[in-house]
Amino acid sequence: MRFREALGRISPYVPGKSIEEVKKKYGLDKVVKLASNENPYGANPKAIKAFKSFESLHIYPDPDPEDLRQKIGEYVGYEAERIVVGAGIDGVMENIFKLFVEPGDRIVIPIPSFPYYHILTRVCGAFDVRVRRKRNFTIDVRSLLDAITEKTKIVLVCSPNNPTGNVENEEVVKEIVESCNVLVFVDEAYGEFSSKNLLRFAEYENVVVARTFSKAFGLANLRIGYAVVPEEIRKEYLKVSTPFPLSTPAKFAAMAALEDRKFLKFVVEKTREERERVGKKLREIGVKVYPSEANFILIETPIKSSELAEELLKRGIIVRDCSKFIGCNEYHVRVSIGRKEENDLFIEAMEDIVCS
Ligand SMILES: *Cc1c(COP(=O)(O)O)cnc(C)c1O
Repeated sequence: MRFREALGRISPYVPGKSIEEVKKKYGLDKVVKLASNENPYGANPKAIKAFKSFESLHIYPDPDPEDLRQKIGEYVGYEAERIVVGAGIDGVMENIFKLFVEPGDRIVIPIPSFPYYHILTRVCGAFDVRVRRKRNFTIDVRSLLDAITEKTKIVLVCSPNNPTGNVENEEVVKEIVESCNVLVFVDEAYGEFSSKNLLRFAEYENVVVARTFSKAFGLANLRIGYAVVPEEIRKEYLKVSTPFPLSTPAKFAAMAALEDRKFLKFVVEKTREERERVGKKLREIGVKVYPSEANFILIETPIKSSELAEELLKRGIIVRDCSKFIGCNEYHVRVSIGRKEENDLFIEAMEDIVCS
């Protein structure tokens, strides 16, 4: 068989280890997963109820659900005509890449950032051009603009950035957006957890702002993402999207989640509170914690991150060793913010490992 040449340059996405896997391997009864930035409070009960209410599973869903786009539009402050949906941000991003990226093109990625950006770029036969972030992990505008050439089609801006947790400066985004005519893809997967967002940039002709129901809304398994796009992009988007990207039960769940903002508010407030508490506890035992506006924190570990991750696994805690993330170093670990009792177990284990 003749697979595409580009595949030789790609390693598959590595998901976080599953709780079951770790229980089995280490013979543990209780395992806490703080590795995939999932919502520790679960899905909104009203979303679960709405999801279960749909039984016509033999019928194809609406290809471009107007009712959901309407509700999303109200939520983000844009017209429904400006909203596109997809199978998670991952699915939306795939469609946007299908619209713009040809083999040999360049995609500019400030590193470190979300690993899937590199994978998708290479799947398209394009080059992932890496621009190192500044020490505080915000984008170095000069180096980024220098990296843009005729072949550059997309610049990826993740805010709050995964895995570093920082938000991007508005002035930086403004400068990027206004000084080049390439598409700026703003990934706000964690936008709800942050004190600032970049939605206003969706007013520009060359900007897409993507969001998801996977994180703050707790619907990761349903694969619902969306983006605010220029009208011109929306027209083209419908040409390349798979015909039925979103199932009807998923749509119902998303709509119910948008209607019940109380749950969202609870999740966001709790997460912020716990994020500050966990950060403070870790700093007290001498662990470097980077400031975060997301539902996770990046830490610099006193021993190699792979060893620390292994020590935590033995104690039933799964975190994300970032040493293999492009742009991270051997001491970077990303930890999702869980429920209070989960975070306490993590802090105890850290004290045990670091202070002994
Ligand atoms: C989790 C995550 C995504 C994927 O979101 P889905 O909507 O579940 O596909 C996209 N971007 C970043 C930065 C993420 O961390």
